[in-house]
Amino acid sequence: MRTARLEDGELRIMERPDPEPGYEEAVVRITAAGVCHSDVHLLKGDWTGVARSGPFGHEGVGIVEALGPGAERYAALGDRVIVGLGGSGGGYWCGACEHCLGGKPRLCRQGKGILGTYSEQLKLFAKSMVVLPDSIGDHEVPLACGGLTAYGAVKKLNQYSLVPGSWVAVLGAAGGLGHYAVQIAKHWGYRVVGVDVGADRVQFVRSLGADLAVDANEAAAVVRQTIPGGVHASLVFTPRVAGFRLGMDLLRRGGMFVGVGIPADKEGGIEISPWELFGKDPLIMFSAVGTVQDMRELVQLAADGHVRTHVSRTGKLSELSTILDELESGAYTGRAVITDLSN
Ligand SMILES: [Zn+2]
Ligand SMILES: [Zn+2]
Repeated sequence: MRTARLEDGELRIMERPDPEPGYEEAVVRITAAGVCHSDVHLLKGDWTGVARSGPFGHEGVGIVEALGPGAERYAALGDRVIVGLGGSGGGYWCGACEHCLGGKPRLCRQGKGILGTYSEQLKLFAKSMVVLPDSIGDHEVPLACGGLTAYGAVKKLNQYSLVPGSWVAVLGAAGGLGHYAVQIAKHWGYRVVGVDVGADRVQFVRSLGADLAVDANEAAAVVRQTIPGGVHASLVFTPRVAGFRLGMDLLRRGGMFVGVGIPADKEGGIEISPWELFGKDPLIMFSAVGTVQDMRELVQLAADGHVRTHVSRTGKLSELSTILDELESGAYTGRAVITDLSN
């Protein structure tokens, strides 16, 4: 099979033997692979301690082609499935530890990620596949990580009882994750301030249905004038530390701060003084991807037409390196998708 891998931080496209499924594993023929901003960070070595050799890519749609022993309980041959879970979790979880039984299998000590969707075929843990209805096309493949991560973050608002009508700031609202978050938050009845950088991106955020769409440079002033006290929650998708700081600045007293993007280590950290914590008393948390159940819920939202994937660029596997460069420079809104894994 044809596949793209990382080898010591270099992107290589090569032939590898076709995979054989083991116990509770399936082999999926990938028909579309989403290009995630995390792939740019992995390629550039932005995150200390993350392996830079091995299978690459973590958003896939494809057809189940082979099933190992026991896997037939979770999928059938010929099923069209979405796989990925953001590469973090989903490759394996034990199902028996405190984290798995507590609803956070991503934290399982035996857990593994799903990597290797930039390939003609992918071998994976059959329990992590979610069957797609025909109404969801291959171009919706970024639901696998971008969509799921946005869904998981907006669901946090719900889990912490933020009532509909509350103001939610989405930072990085025109990007691969943020554009989903705007749609999901609007569908759930929140009022949304979408923040991004540049007139085109702000216009795109407005087209998604945001109540307010503003440039990051003006966001603090606009929110101060329009929303007395500030927003009830900030969801920070942008991979820039400045976006984290802005998310905290926009927040009202007692507001909810949800970090999602992971800036490069060299950007350093966000500074918060204890005095600011005393005055604002915020609820601070992080949200990373989601579970298989979250993925099923998101697929249903998309099937019902409440969430659409904005794809600005499609290409072949051989164009992956170019596409990653374009993504890094913020060349387009929404997502890019590889639609031909054999060339
Ligand atoms: Zn991702
Ligand atoms: Zn476990």
